[in-house]
Amino acid sequence: MTIAAPQMKPWIEAMHAYVPGKSSAGAPVVAKLSSNENPWGPSPKAIAAMQAVIAEGHRYPDPASTSLREALGDKYGVNPAHIICGTGSDEILHMIASAFAGPGDEIIHVRHGFAVYEGATRRVGATPVVVPDVDYTGDINAILAAVTPATRVIYIANPNNPTGTLLPAADIRRLIAGVPSDVVLVLDCAYAEFVEVDYEDGLALAQSLPNLIVTRTFSKIHGLAAQRIGWAVAALPIIAALDRVRGPFNVTTTGQAAAVASLADDTHLDMVRRETIRLRAFLEGEIVALGNAGLRAIPSACNFILIEFPESGPVTAAGANKWLLDHGIICRYLAVQNMPRCLRISIGTETETRTVAAALRDYVEGAA
Ligand SMILES: *Cc1c(COP(=O)(O)O)cnc(C)c1O
Repeated sequence: MTIAAPQMKPWIEAMHAYVPGKSSAGAPVVAKLSSNENPWGPSPKAIAAMQAVIAEGHRYPDPASTSLREALGDKYGVNPAHIICGTGSDEILHMIASAFAGPGDEIIHVRHGFAVYEGATRRVGATPVVVPDVDYTGDINAILAAVTPATRVIYIANPNNPTGTLLPAADIRRLIAGVPSDVVLVLDCAYAEFVEVDYEDGLALAQSLPNLIVTRTFSKIHGLAAQRIGWAVAALPIIAALDRVRGPFNVTTTGQAAAVASLADDTHLDMVRRETIRLRAFLEGEIVALGNAGLRAIPSACNFILIEFPESGPVTAAGANKWLLDHGIICRYLAVQNMPRCLRISIGTETETRTVAAALRDYVEGAA
């Protein structure tokens, strides 16, 4: 007699566990540039604020993240009632799918989009609808054309990860205007702070429209990825729906304290932004200089650059990835996301960025 084992739901069986950026290499690690982390770390003020609350570790955190929502409201000119905080913006992206979609419903994302969107879609039994992009950039017309009566949610990151590409403000406004008002449009702005020009951050519109949710994170420019803090702005009925599905104590006390302190440290944030943009331009120039070997830097508005390699040898993305790993440099090889020609390199410190640029040049010169 066979003994029946618990069966996972078929839509869970269709999922893959999230494959994170690597954190070990074939040599002692000299640069970890695989997860778009801020290499300068949190603001010293955020570190002090976390230390100051550690002894309160036996108390549950403020379930409403009140002081954090007030600080965000002050900084961004948003009514705190329209703000919700999450265990990273990942939790918020998942909450949105749980609150608004289920089996039989469709959720749209772009082909080279953030991997969490597919996971959030499948977890609730909804069907992912993947829209083609144009040269690694989202295609507004194609997204709008993919909307059907079954569409419940559209996820789009601007600028986008893993491509780094930015949709101009006019395109984002056209998307917002074109989506039916009963379909939730999620504008994921995890990299907003690294954009220099022509940006629609959606924050004002998210307060006034019934169906726009803007998500932001403390994991990138604030350097607080380990604390898991994200936030979103939306209409009050959407906030009320998300409040039903979120974990009651979802942002830790240290996370809330760190985030409030970090928001007030413009000196640190300006330094991170300036250095990231400067080193991004440097790395882009280094990749452009390898253009004869077939490398192409996709123009980036984020704290990373996507490199497209030739389809076949002698110089390939797989070859470069192996070379870099053998030299202790960890980047993100995107074969797992159906981009076998692409390597994504996060912007590190000046030393790390120069090290990866030099190693890439050595690889190309040795292979060509
Ligand atoms: C890094 C990233 C996030 C942030 O995730 P957290 O859960 O807040 O750490 C969200 N969206 C995109 C597109 C990202 O790249």
